[in-house]
Amino acid sequence: MSHSRRQFLSRSAMVAALAVLPAPFKALAARSRFNFTPVRRGVGIFEARGGTIGWLVRDKALVAVDSQFPESAQACLDGLTEKSGRRMDLLINSHHHGDHTAGNSVLGANARHIVAQSNVPVLQKRFYGKSEREQKYADITFEETWTQDLGDETIALNYFGPGHTGGDSVIHFQNADVAHMGDLVFNHRHAYIDLPAGCDTRNWMTVLERTYDMFTDNTVFIFGHGNPTHGILGTRDDVLVMRDYLGALRKAVSDGIRDGKSSADIAALGLEGFESHRIDGSTKGIEGNLMAVYEELTEAVE
Ligand SMILES: [Zn+2]
Repeated sequence: MSHSRRQFLSRSAMVAALAVLPAPFKALAARSRFNFTPVRRGVGIFEARGGTIGWLVRDKALVAVDSQFPESAQACLDGLTEKSGRRMDLLINSHHHGDHTAGNSVLGANARHIVAQSNVPVLQKRFYGKSEREQKYADITFEETWTQDLGDETIALNYFGPGHTGGDSVIHFQNADVAHMGDLVFNHRHAYIDLPAGCDTRNWMTVLERTYDMFTDNTVFIFGHGNPTHGILGTRDDVLVMRDYLGALRKAVSDGIRDGKSSADIAALGLEGFESHRIDGSTKGIEGNLMAVYEELTEAVE
């Protein structure tokens, strides 16, 4: 596949992903201060613009997972400081994507440390190092696992190999039994398949299976993005739905390739059985995912 074709497909996948991000920031900014939702035992979520921020507020712990964009990061920091009165101990980056790290310049600048899997700062530098936005990078990195006791909570990070990108962590607040999945799960909606950043849909499925196995039905999951109906909180059954969605994409594409279909023909088929993954009834996002997986699978056999 030619370089320009690859760029075109990657870009169209990205446009599809961006097209369904929540409503414009201006409308959300007004209510962002109030967008703190407690989940369990001091862990909660903050929603404004970009990937869901997770937080931990306890007597001796103040932690955020992901930082959205500078404007919403400031609203989040203000709210967390009001709740806690404590300087932030940790900012954790679930992965490098801009809607999860662009606010590092605010939340990270006010945290003692930023923690991420070791590929995260590398990818962040590669894709955003020359952007106008100020980047702030993790100063604590790990390869496969990292744990830290903080106050009366234990935080455990796991990296199971490439999935949504080449550096996604599964983040577990063990005592609360709440897990932040970053973008390893797009809850009942199409995904962002970012091949240049190391996305690997086959291993992504394995990552989700390992995640399912290490948790229980009691675990509450926080997802980076979700379908408006299903939201951004869920259970490990939702983790399996994401695995099944990726499996269905891969099967539809490999069957189409076997039958000699073009990527456009395969995309036009849509994906039966995953109607709930459409946003506002649109099939565009799923079509973009099918084209991205076509690119992934055809590159792999060349
Ligand atoms: Zn992402």
